[in-house]
Amino acid sequence: MTPRALVLLGYYFWRTLLLRWLRPRNGLAAFHESYAADKLPPVTAAERHALKAFSSCIACGMCDASFAAWPSVDRAAFHGPMDLPLSYSRGMPDYDTLGRYLAQLDRGDLVRIERLCPARIPFRDLAAFARKKAAEIEELGVAAGAIAARASGDGDGDGEGAAPRLPAPRTSPG
Ligand code: SF4
Repeated sequence: MTPRALVLLGYYFWRTLLLRWLRPRNGLAAFHESYAADKLPPVTAAERHALKAFSSCIACGMCDASFAAWPSVDRAAFHGPMDLPLSYSRGMPDYDTLGRYLAQLDRGDLVRIERLCPARIPFRDLAAFARKKAAEIEELGVAAGAIAARASGDGDGDGEGAAPRLPAPRTSPG
């Protein structure tokens, strides 16, 4: 390690300690400060517990096969119920892009799908969770949008110039 690196390391070490002492932050404020730009809202203990149930899909395809509302859904926005537990629900920062998908999912009989699912995925709870977190992401949006706009070179912060983040499509059954 060079002398210059050693001096910088010491400087930032003491600076961090001093800032912590001068500006104490509680955990939630620190979380918001660190993760708002990544569109990550905090998760409660109950939600953390529920996440285990949301993520146990075994990709058997039963929910897609038993979804009876195929004739009434927009296939461009909806490739099947399985996408929600298997893929879309894994990326919380993208929950705010799921509005069209969830609207199509609502057309099906989710109670029936939950009953047939061998992994007991609670589709209704999962959809409600995604909507709740999407609303929280929306609240984080002002700060996150400004930071993202700066990062993408969109100086006016209107979102133009940034690539839309949409869920990846999947080959639909049938
Ligand atoms: S029925 Fe359940 S386990 Fe099978 S693909 Fe659908 S969500 Fe996954």
